[in-house]
Amino acid sequence: MKIIKSVARMQSLSMQKRTEGKRIALVPTMGFFHAGHISLMTYARKRCDLLVVSIFVNPMQFGPSGDFERYPRDLKRDRVMAEKAGVDVLFCTSAQDMYPPGFQTHVEVERLTQPLCGQSRPGHFRGVTTVVTKLFNIVQPHEAVFGLKDYQQWLAIRRMAGDLNMAVKVTGRPIVREKDGLAMSSRNTYLSPAERKAALGLQQSLSMAKYLVRKGEKSPKRIKKTIKELITSYNSAKIEIEYVSFCHPETLDERDIIKDKTLLAIAARVGKTRLIDNCLLSPGE
Ligand code: AMP
Repeated sequence: MKIIKSVARMQSLSMQKRTEGKRIALVPTMGFFHAGHISLMTYARKRCDLLVVSIFVNPMQFGPSGDFERYPRDLKRDRVMAEKAGVDVLFCTSAQDMYPPGFQTHVEVERLTQPLCGQSRPGHFRGVTTVVTKLFNIVQPHEAVFGLKDYQQWLAIRRMAGDLNMAVKVTGRPIVREKDGLAMSSRNTYLSPAERKAALGLQQSLSMAKYLVRKGEKSPKRIKKTIKELITSYNSAKIEIEYVSFCHPETLDERDIIKDKTLLAIAARVGKTRLIDNCLLSPGE
């Protein structure tokens, strides 16, 4: 496995591979790998000749809260895990190389980034779509693989690639969970044992909603009420719901009745840690 730190070297390797007719896949990450990241690599591995995984904790997508400095990093461990997953190139560049002095160009997906996480994280998705555009231009992948845990991010990136005619297939892959159901996340390492227990409330809420919808419940309002009660009952550690949204899985428009396939997305703060989770509700299935 090659480790490439320079943007120019990465871009010239990709150009060379492209002229050789090789198929390139990219898995963009912020590192501190867990089984969720590895599942994306394993999927991508089978679909390309050159598998590139990028590690870049992108300052542009963080707010002023200090989360950027606090974000966990462990390149040594990531190297071992990536090598095991069959990665060809680990592209870990620096903020200086990505955003040299004078940088002033951004990419913004307008409507899809307004609701849900867009409400509490102004500028976040603009940072994401800008850095992903740069990664697409540098790595020139035929396919890029993302996790559906960040559903809104995947939707925005897919929209961006379509709207701007980027020649890359944007693939979304299922959420990988811990044994007890908690969606894997690099941020889970922040949780104290009590918070870790409280965090289970998110996934339990999704299961409860699925159960209610299967039983014929159609009202987001009533399900929200049950979810809020359930989450408060887990409240040995401080857990604060940021949003519970029942929305159209393509447009993210809020639904007032669950008749068709609906995305249920949740965000909550457990102590200082912000967690998200989601599932698709399919009435009648
Ligand atoms: P991150 O390093 O958190 O920016 O995530 C890098 C990629 O891994 C993104 O496409 C995420 O959606 C994806 N990812 C993160 N957690 C999971 C998970 N539990 N299951 C599947 N994919 C995930």
